[in-house]
Amino acid sequence: MANQGVLKRGPLSPPSNPGSSNQEEGVSKHRVIIVGAGPAGIFAALKLKGAGLRHILIIEQGEDIERRRRDTGRDILCGWGGAGAFSDGKLTLSPEIGGFLEDFISRDELKNLLIEADGLYLHYGAPKKTFGSPSEKTETLTYLARQAGMEFIPTEIRHVGTENWAKILKKMREDLGKEVTVRTKTRVEHLWVNKGAVRGVELEDGQKLAADCVIVSPGRFGADWVKREMERLGLSSSPNPVDIGVRIESPAVILKDLTDTAYESKLIYYSKTFDDRVRTFCMNPYGEVVIEESNGIVTVNGHSYANRKTENTNFAILVSSNFTEPFDDPINYGGVIARLANLLGRGVIIQRLGDLMEGRRSTPERITRCITRPTLSSATPGDLSFVLPYRYLKDIMEMLEAMDKIAPGIFSHHTLLYGVEVKFYSNRISLSPTLESQVKNLFFIGDGAGITRGLLQASASGILAAREILKRV
Ligand SMILES: Cc1cc2nc3c(=O)[nH]c(=O)nc-3n(C[C@H](O)[C@H](O)[C@H](O)COP(=O)(O)OP(=O)(O)OC[C@H]3O[C@@H](n4cnc5c(N)ncnc54)[C@H](O)[C@@H]3O)c2cc1C
Repeated sequence: MANQGVLKRGPLSPPSNPGSSNQEEGVSKHRVIIVGAGPAGIFAALKLKGAGLRHILIIEQGEDIERRRRDTGRDILCGWGGAGAFSDGKLTLSPEIGGFLEDFISRDELKNLLIEADGLYLHYGAPKKTFGSPSEKTETLTYLARQAGMEFIPTEIRHVGTENWAKILKKMREDLGKEVTVRTKTRVEHLWVNKGAVRGVELEDGQKLAADCVIVSPGRFGADWVKREMERLGLSSSPNPVDIGVRIESPAVILKDLTDTAYESKLIYYSKTFDDRVRTFCMNPYGEVVIEESNGIVTVNGHSYANRKTENTNFAILVSSNFTEPFDDPINYGGVIARLANLLGRGVIIQRLGDLMEGRRSTPERITRCITRPTLSSATPGDLSFVLPYRYLKDIMEMLEAMDKIAPGIFSHHTLLYGVEVKFYSNRISLSPTLESQVKNLFFIGDGAGITRGLLQASASGILAAREILKRV
């Protein structure tokens, strides 16, 4: 087990009043308050409720699942189901991908936790079929990728599909709703801490709600809020790298060999010019490119349906950037780059690779002449070289050239680039192996704690914290 970022703690005493759901200082008291109804928070609640615990409150700033709409700003990332509610629900079963829980527990424990989380998704209706399990074909792909100067990470995926994902979230909501109180459209403003132990939370309107334990699962959307709260409470956290890049779209047939073998091909390339770590991310065979809005910044993403296919495949190429002294605000840096694209393109910019290489902008006419038909119609034809620093463009071009050796045709004039795609990772909070912070009975889980980056590990982190709480109560 690696130790990086792990806060070692001795055994902890039980909560001050573990059996209560009574009144304290005139406020109603819960056993557990969960902040954020993304997969991390939902799975913590499922585990606690499943073990018979009652008086659990989930507080979510967004809308309930029935009322969420994918075409309105904050709704896309906030509400019951969290950031991935409109995603196609690709559950990554391999422990290497989707987070850093292995820094807290052993590989075997993590595998078991992922199996438990996956089992719950199956229980609520996820399909049994998985893609990308080790085979002769994945071995060949590993070999071909090496020849092309890349590393292929075999990844097993369960693809739920956008249309089924919402149904699963709805079923979980119905199931929990019977015994767990859910307050949507309610924002937690502060964590309520006294003498080194959590006391509850304070809402936007100043109302205080008391709890024996608080689980904080605010996702990437809550990253800034978490950072501010960490500073206010004097708790330590460290920046994670920011991943900046573009979404690539090309005819599905060009990537068919890759996607038939691995569905989600995780390829890593170390660029020749800058020695940067460049990787493919979130590959969507026969999928659609979509826009994403968070904190007023419009970026690009992609997804695919289980039963509805387009003629294209899309994926991201991302470059990880770590900054050194004196700069320690990668979230802000990524935001500035995304805002630049928004400034020039009034949103997301689309460009043909051929235009980018020939140093000219794409225009609506040039996009019409492109044999890759864009699946995102609202992107503005433009010039990404005005947005992305040379370093990123060079890294992306080099990787596409390397990929062309295993997917001939990807380094083509007609490949489309959408920009920008930015992955903001929350600051990484110092946590114990059971995900408890330096404050007693205050747990941080999921993407908002900077320890996960995907649905299944986020869900697993919820189970991990809930298990510890169950031991105490
Ligand atoms: C478009 C898209 C597609 C994706 N597709 C995939 C995929 O296919 N596979 C995969 O593994 N991952 C995918 N992801 C990533 C995945 O969605 C996240 O890793 C996962 O949702 C993280 O879960 P979480 O519970 O930690 O946080 P989130 O899902 O972000 O949920 C956090 C919740 O907390 C709420 N919140 C924040 N602050 C407060 C506050 N102060 N008070 C009250 N509520 C608050 C937010 O409104 C939000 O609903 C995708 C993400 C996006 C955006």
